[in-house]
Amino acid sequence: MNNQILEAIKSRVDQRVWKKWFSSFYIKSVSDSEAVFIVSNLFIKDWLEKKYRRVIEHAIKDVVGRKIPFRIEYSEVDQPTKEEIPKISPPESTNLNPSMTFWNFVVGNGNEQVYKFAKKITKELGRFSPLFIHGGVGVGKTHILHAIGNEAYSKNPNLKIVYVTSERFMNEMINALRENRIQEFKNKYRGVDLLLMDDVQFLMGKNGVQFELFNTFNELMDKKKQMVFCSDRSPDKLQDFQDRLVSRFKMGIVAEMEVPDIETRKKIAREIVKTEGGKLKDEILDFLAENVDGSLRELRGAIIKLIAYQEIENKELDLYEAIGIVGNLLRDSNRMDLSEKLLATLSLVFDVSPSEIKGRSKRISAVLSRQIGMYFAKNYLKLSTTAIAEIFNRSPSVVSSTIKKATEKIGKNPLLEGYVRKVLSHMSPAIGKDF
Ligand code: ADP
Ligand code: MG
Repeated sequence: MNNQILEAIKSRVDQRVWKKWFSSFYIKSVSDSEAVFIVSNLFIKDWLEKKYRRVIEHAIKDVVGRKIPFRIEYSEVDQPTKEEIPKISPPESTNLNPSMTFWNFVVGNGNEQVYKFAKKITKELGRFSPLFIHGGVGVGKTHILHAIGNEAYSKNPNLKIVYVTSERFMNEMINALRENRIQEFKNKYRGVDLLLMDDVQFLMGKNGVQFELFNTFNELMDKKKQMVFCSDRSPDKLQDFQDRLVSRFKMGIVAEMEVPDIETRKKIAREIVKTEGGKLKDEILDFLAENVDGSLRELRGAIIKLIAYQEIENKELDLYEAIGIVGNLLRDSNRMDLSEKLLATLSLVFDVSPSEIKGRSKRISAVLSRQIGMYFAKNYLKLSTTAIAEIFNRSPSVVSSTIKKATEKIGKNPLLEGYVRKVLSHMSPAIGKDF
């Protein structure tokens, strides 16, 4: 986090400026209401405040996702070098994922209310227990759960915090029973300060575990400990669930999380790229945010696939290539313009741009991409000659003769046949057909 802010500043100024003015610039603290920096030279402090205020503001916003006021303090003491600033990672026993924090949680339409409740309970653990968060797949529930845990830990590392899926809770219980350690199991969960339980809907119909959870719940409530539950449905919709447990879920705050709107999703896409330590073109990220099915899990899936692909191929993908690779994840891919899909796929397979395919280039890969593409459009997509002519920006007679030539060549040449199969493998998920 802190390093990210420094990196963001670094990327916004040129190297000379960075060396000259930011070499003794450190982060003292960052909270949601203020960021505090330290420099060891009063003149530099003044200069930074006068000249680099906006740069710093923007860098914070880059990382945190919104504006946070900051101030710069002057301090004579030597600061630790940037590498020495400890990264606060909770111990493994908490099961917390340190990469899901409030810092990299983008707040927007759909998740804002839950975010606010989550922040609020983190400030006053136990006061508003339980918090019950529900919402569909991939809206950010699990992220919020870890964020609460990570923040609570960074505020007080002595707290006993446990993140657990209800499934794991059940398995631990079964194992404990089998190994005669049930008391140990009970003590573990009844002794926490903050219990973060994910996917409680998994316990539907599992009466024995519900009973244990009920007892755990009561004991933690008595001790004024904080509990947070996540579920894919509201308490009322939990079937085969003991009423007394459902009513307990409802005795705190029940809040729903929804799929964030497109603008928020665009920001989330950037955040995911950063978290995953990769880079993708903005046009790709925007396109994915607009077109990948609502779930942010799929957005993440598409992003990491593209990052991996880029690293394997060692080149920067453009939008068309990206569509070719993750086309099957796109929302409503059946309605997506077939010509766009075909061009994207050809562009990927033959490494030529769509405009080159449609243009007059005589480069061998461009010529091949047209031949295979037209052949494919006719035989697999069953498009008419006029439709194909339009896609490839050629006259219908050129299309006919090209397809004729291609048909002859493909029959004789396994290499060309291989290309057709490659196009097929990219296109078939996107058009929802198995050929
Ligand atoms: P859920 O638990 O609701 O199915 P997750 O919390 O697993 O959803 O979210 C799916 C992915 O999207 C995760 O990688 C998560 O980090 C990311 N994500 C979700 N919401 C946000 C957000 N508001 N800002 C940044 N990343 C998010
Ligand atoms: Mg989840």
